[in-house]
Amino acid sequence: MDKCTFCGRSRKETGILIQGLSGYICDSCVEQAQQIIKEEIYHAPKKTLQKHKLLKPVQIFEFLNQYVIGQENAKRSLSVAVYNHYKRIFQKDTKNDVEIEKSNIILVGETGTGKTLLARTIAKMLDVPFTIVDATVLTEAGYVGEDVESLLSRLLQVANYDVKRAEMGIVFIDEIDKIARKGDNPSITRDVSGEGVQQALLKLLEGSVVNVPPQGGRKHPEQHFIEVDTKNILFICGGAFEGIQKKISHRLNTLVVGYRSSHNKEQIDRDNLMQYIAPQDLRAYGLIPEIIGRLPLLTYLQPLDRSALRQILTEPKNAITKQYIKLFKMDGIDLTFDENSLEFVVDKAIEFKLGARGLRSICENIMLDAMFDAPTSKSKTLNISLEYCQHKINKTTLIRLQAAV
Ligand code: ADP
Repeated sequence: MDKCTFCGRSRKETGILIQGLSGYICDSCVEQAQQIIKEEIYHAPKKTLQKHKLLKPVQIFEFLNQYVIGQENAKRSLSVAVYNHYKRIFQKDTKNDVEIEKSNIILVGETGTGKTLLARTIAKMLDVPFTIVDATVLTEAGYVGEDVESLLSRLLQVANYDVKRAEMGIVFIDEIDKIARKGDNPSITRDVSGEGVQQALLKLLEGSVVNVPPQGGRKHPEQHFIEVDTKNILFICGGAFEGIQKKISHRLNTLVVGYRSSHNKEQIDRDNLMQYIAPQDLRAYGLIPEIIGRLPLLTYLQPLDRSALRQILTEPKNAITKQYIKLFKMDGIDLTFDENSLEFVVDKAIEFKLGARGLRSICENIMLDAMFDAPTSKSKTLNISLEYCQHKINKTTLIRLQAAV
């Protein structure tokens, strides 16, 4: 008589009996097996994370190199910070009185220089839940906007509400510069989106147990909350801090006038002041000292020059051109790009001041017609020449390109 090889129930006792090569499985065993797999998957990331704790800063740096062009400083700092962070989480000796403190990170650099990409790549490497939140949507409790705790709701969502997993995740808080204190005197009007939010953020950054509304948004009394401990969540903040060079320059000038001779003044590279950024500059910009204290690792990203943009097109592991080549390969077409067509894309990105983000929108406009025709085309090769690019870009307008960035 046919019966389930797993639970022994006969065909009559089960709803469905599925036949395999050398046995049967019933519907309830399938369900149970599914449950087991689900639980295993939930617990698996922890194992992966443990495996990755072995990655040394040099290895993390090499991993980042595969995806992010340039930005040596930021990559080195991040490699060390991430290494220390996860070393701290996995430290076995908790009795020792030396407590390693959490080291959240702040990345300063123009938009489109790779801040989000760096944070995302780190999360990919560690296989931990990762979320990007925009600081501009956050407001102080009681005001229109989202409560600060809601940024953990998104982390919970990506961790499939597995609290333990979320508690080891990474949160990237973008546009942190937008919650800078607006003026020197906050008491004149209430600075709803500035200092108040910074105060609320403090609690999360330093590590505490917070009540998170599972669906995000605004908290209300009848709601059910999930408790999340932020002790081991790594916060990476990013911001363009437009105009911060002025603050840096001002500080450097007073420093030079105060202590040094004009001899040292010449050594300051005025074209790239960002490399001298220090916590005092963030304070002058309007971040409160307590927040700066909770973001001990400050690093900067350079504006991308021509050669970096050119490299971004072809070198990262998932470079834009590699993606097109793969897409066309799926239709059996060998796609190639002439060198001067790539130079053209870079020229346009610079000309339109679109930066690295513009590279994709320019490429999309160039490739659109080809992607439309390719699946039905008889030709097995396609070469993108300079003339082809010029023709396609002339057809589109700058407004369309800008809108796509
Ligand atoms: P930011 O967060 O600094 O505003 P992003 O990290 O979102 O900028 O960058 C936007 C896009 O530009 C990325 O998805 C990536 O394709 C590209 N990009 C930017 N900087 C780099 C870089 N240094 N190396 C490789 N790609 C980059």
